[in-house]
Formats: sequence, C-alpha cells, structure tokens
Amino acid sequence: MKGSVISKESFKCLLNTDYIFGCVDNDGARLFLNEVALAYNIGYFDVSSEILISENEYGGHIIFINGDNPCLYCLNEINPAEARKYLDNPNARKDEEAIYGIDKKVLNGSGPAVVSLNGIIASLAVNEFMLHVTGKRVANKFLTYYGSIGIVRKRNENRKEGCYYCESIKGQREKVDISNYFT
Ligand SMILES: [Zn+2]
Repeated sequence: MKGSVISKESFKCLLNTDYIFGCVDNDGARLFLNEVALAYNIGYFDVSSEILISENEYGGHIIFINGDNPCLYCLNEINPAEARKYLDNPNARKDEEAIYGIDKKVLNGSGPAVVSLNGIIASLAVNEFMLHVTGKRVANKFLTYYGSIGIVRKRNENRKEGCYYCESIKGQREKVDISNYFT
C-alpha cells in the first residue's frame, strides 16, 4: 500500500510481515516502527543514510532489531523530542518535507543526488537480510558506513538497562496500545 507508515492500514500490513525494512527520514516514524517491531517480535532493519556537512562526514547505518538485540532507543538512534514533535504536529511533518536536504520546489520533481550512498547502504542491508534468512549467519546488529574513509564498522552495543521499549513493550503484542500513534 502507499501512504504514511503511521496509520491503521500500515499497521495491519506490518503485522502480516516477517521482516520490516525501515527507510524513513524522521524519528517519529522510526519510533513507531521500533515499537511495533518490538511488541510483535518482528525483525526490523533500520536503514539510514546521512550527510553531516559540519563534520565533513557522510555514510549511514544498518541496525537489526531482533531477539535480544538493542532497540533504536537503547542505541540513542531516536531523539525523543524530535519524534514527539513530528508525531504531535502534522504541520511539523510538512515543514520537514520542505527542508529535507533542499527545498523540494527547487528540485522540480527529482531528489537530492545521494543515489550512490543510498545504494551502498541499501545493498549492505539486503546482504545482511539474505545471510540471515538463509541461515548462513545471523545478521549484524549494527553496521556503520563511513563514506569519508570508505570503511564499514561493526558495532556491538548491548541493550540499555531500563529501556522502556525493550523491557515493557517487547513481546506484549496487542496489550500495547498502538492507536496512540493515530490520534
Ligand atoms: Zn531498547
């Protein structure tokens, strides 16, 4: 289906999947996917590319949330204030679209030219997924690609003690009130 991932329709679709690939541009959608994946024990690949102009760095990451792996919240990969701002205010969603990379009006229907970077990150994610589902090996829980030096680093963080999502949401299925996201 086409439309916002934060919707009842998308939620129903997600419940019928074995794995989720989240390739989203905001922490509101990331928080939603993190919660759904944990509540229903669905393997979730968070796939993200990033250009940090001030740090002269570009790259991205693949985070695999599955089993006892840490969630995005454990890994500080969700900014709660940004997520809340996005979820609480439909206008903020429009604003974010307007400032993503470059003013969309100027782009005349095309997008920022990050296709080579996105290609690397997407291929890394698909490769991890293929190795995982074919049983060759368990997918890495956290890979980061540093474009400036051309290196992929494996990270090995563990769950953060006291993580609300890992400790109170995980495996709770319909006991978790996801409808909060749709109001
Ligand atoms: Zn967590």
